[in-house]
Amino acid sequence: MELLENPVRPYAWGSRTVIADLLGESVPSPHPQAEMWLGAHPGDPSRIVHPDGGRSSLLDVLTGDPEGLLGAERSARWEGKLPFLLKVLAADEPLSLQAHPSLDQAREGFARENAAGIAIDASDRNYRDANHKPELICALTEFHALVGFRDPVETLGLLRALDVPELSAHVELLAAQPGPDGLRALFTTWITLPQSMLDELVPALQKGAVALAAAGGDWAREARTALELSERYPGDAGVLAALLLNRVVLAPGEALFLPAGNLHAYLAGAGIELMANSDNVLRGGLTPKHVDVPELLRVLDFTSGPPPVHSGQPEGPWTRYDTPAEEFLLRTWSSGDGLTGSLPVPDGGARILLATGGKACVRAGSEILELPKGAALFLAAGDSGVEVESAAPGTQLHLASDGL
Ligand SMILES: [Zn+2]
Repeated sequence: MELLENPVRPYAWGSRTVIADLLGESVPSPHPQAEMWLGAHPGDPSRIVHPDGGRSSLLDVLTGDPEGLLGAERSARWEGKLPFLLKVLAADEPLSLQAHPSLDQAREGFARENAAGIAIDASDRNYRDANHKPELICALTEFHALVGFRDPVETLGLLRALDVPELSAHVELLAAQPGPDGLRALFTTWITLPQSMLDELVPALQKGAVALAAAGGDWAREARTALELSERYPGDAGVLAALLLNRVVLAPGEALFLPAGNLHAYLAGAGIELMANSDNVLRGGLTPKHVDVPELLRVLDFTSGPPPVHSGQPEGPWTRYDTPAEEFLLRTWSSGDGLTGSLPVPDGGARILLATGGKACVRAGSEILELPKGAALFLAAGDSGVEVESAAPGTQLHLASDGL
């Protein structure tokens, strides 16, 4: 087992408190800290911290000995790569409206953009690899998100409550077909509107949202979200599109699985994100980055309804969050206020163990490492029979592995 040092990504939407606090650094941080990446992603891999203080890239170490670190079978299955990327995500502001492709779509899109000669790091590149990117977000704090299309019959209730005369023709479009086809028609209409129309419609929506938020009632939170998005992204089609999505609040420990084609935008809060090791994002707005509407429309899933919220299932002392993704599995454990005896860390391939609270003591054979809040360990396939115990109140652990 090896201690990891993990890169922090300073995107502008990041929190200045969450990751600094986790790492025991001064709060607020001088710059936003949006994500901490734990893994072997080529864009920003974790580094192994050697006992003598030296560092090696986890990506280089894995590439040098994939069978040793992943195990022979898993190395073959995952083509010598760590199949997952673990992140601590801390959002003070909304992230872009986005969806991720299926495996088939990613393979086809990656080959197509290669054939078209678009550089891998070009700003207008959609497919940076040939992999899908299912993801799981598990809340550390109260976590707010827009996830998947709301039942259009309910959305008609919101749109009518907003009472925006400039949108009445659009409301009727959905009312005529309150199902996936109507959602596709209205989303396509909105996302392809000329800027001159958006410059009229978004302020008109803003007026309706002010009134609806002030009135309180069932749609007040949705109205406030529309207001916040319109203030941050005036004239952005994503503000309209966001009206079609489920407004979800997760309590700490609750999680959402985002399958391919699911349109989503994280709004605020801190969470643990675990995903397949891919960068493939198709954006639909609420971002200064590249937006490719036709490609987004190709991958979007217009089925509707509230997204299932996972609370995890007990597995001995651990809570595990099963998903259809084979690339990853998240387990969590919380000591509560008391100290406990040792608990076994499940075996199986390469794993990353992150402490998000308290302090843990990890034992592998005769080797013992302390894992204070914010610290993380890499466990190779050969690190079997690892045990961990809480060495301080409030110890919280997150264990990432593949889902095989
Ligand atoms: Zn996403």
